[in-house]
Amino acid sequence: MTRTILTGDRPTGPLHLGHYVGSLQQRVALQAEYATYVLVADLQALTDHFDAPEQVRAHVLEVMLDYLAVGLDPAVATMVVQSQVPELAELTIYFLNLVSVARLQRNPTVKDEMRQKGFEADVPAGFLVYPVSQAADIAAFKADLVPVGSDQLPMIEQAAELVRRFNRTYPGAGGPVLVEPEALLGAVSRLPGTDGEAKMSKSLGNVINLSTPPTRWPARCAACSPTRAISAWRTRARWRGIPSSRIWTPSIRTRGRWTRSRRAIAPAGSAIRW
Ligand code: ATP
Ligand code: MG
Repeated sequence: MTRTILTGDRPTGPLHLGHYVGSLQQRVALQAEYATYVLVADLQALTDHFDAPEQVRAHVLEVMLDYLAVGLDPAVATMVVQSQVPELAELTIYFLNLVSVARLQRNPTVKDEMRQKGFEADVPAGFLVYPVSQAADIAAFKADLVPVGSDQLPMIEQAAELVRRFNRTYPGAGGPVLVEPEALLGAVSRLPGTDGEAKMSKSLGNVINLSTPPTRWPARCAACSPTRAISAWRTRARWRGIPSSRIWTPSIRTRGRWTRSRRAIAPAGSAIRW
């Protein structure tokens, strides 16, 4: 039986190199092998951009253009705009009964994001529960695999927990109704920002966008060395057909410096073959 991938991005800005190494690369590599759904999570974007709906709307198209640019093929993968599938919001409502507020408050990524956004004193309820809506997105498509960066591991764990709880509470006549998802980490699971912050992130403004040509990348930054290698990989592989084993890949970090390596750092057991 064909296995299913669902993953996505928040349309809070154009996509950057963190997205590429964290998730996009895996999606492109696996799109023909899996039933692939790529979700532009506009409702999720509103949980912290509720006062900027026009910005979210504009970035839906930007994100779609980035998908096409990196090689996601609409003839093979299905692009989904979250708000256009109301059943996702409906499943979120059912899921909300299966998780406690205390459990949601323990999510380490949400805690970090609340700190960054100044939401600690008074968090919008929608923001606190966005991992539940993300779990509904994943579960509704019965996804087996979710290619993500490491910041998303707590979300996939939460989604798997909700699926288990749902299946226990509402057993189907013919076996479990929902599928327990698993995360698939990218070649670089957390690309640092240009400012040296642990994560390149749209909302931190420390990004190199996919649409920015390498000539305009900052001369010295934590993220540049591996990203130059990635650019070389992409350009050479596409234009010259050089075997991937001969091409530089995102390098291993040794003693605080990025070094060149011929070895891809795909996670052990990953389905990715370079
Ligand atoms: P925002 O700041 O609005 O949350 P973001 O830059 O974190 O934006 P998302 O749309 O939240 O981007 O993330 C989409 C996907 O890209 C997720 O799977 C996430 O793990 C991955 N991703 C984002 N940034 C990075 C990064 N720096 N390194 C690796 N993966 C990343
Ligand atoms: Mg994010």
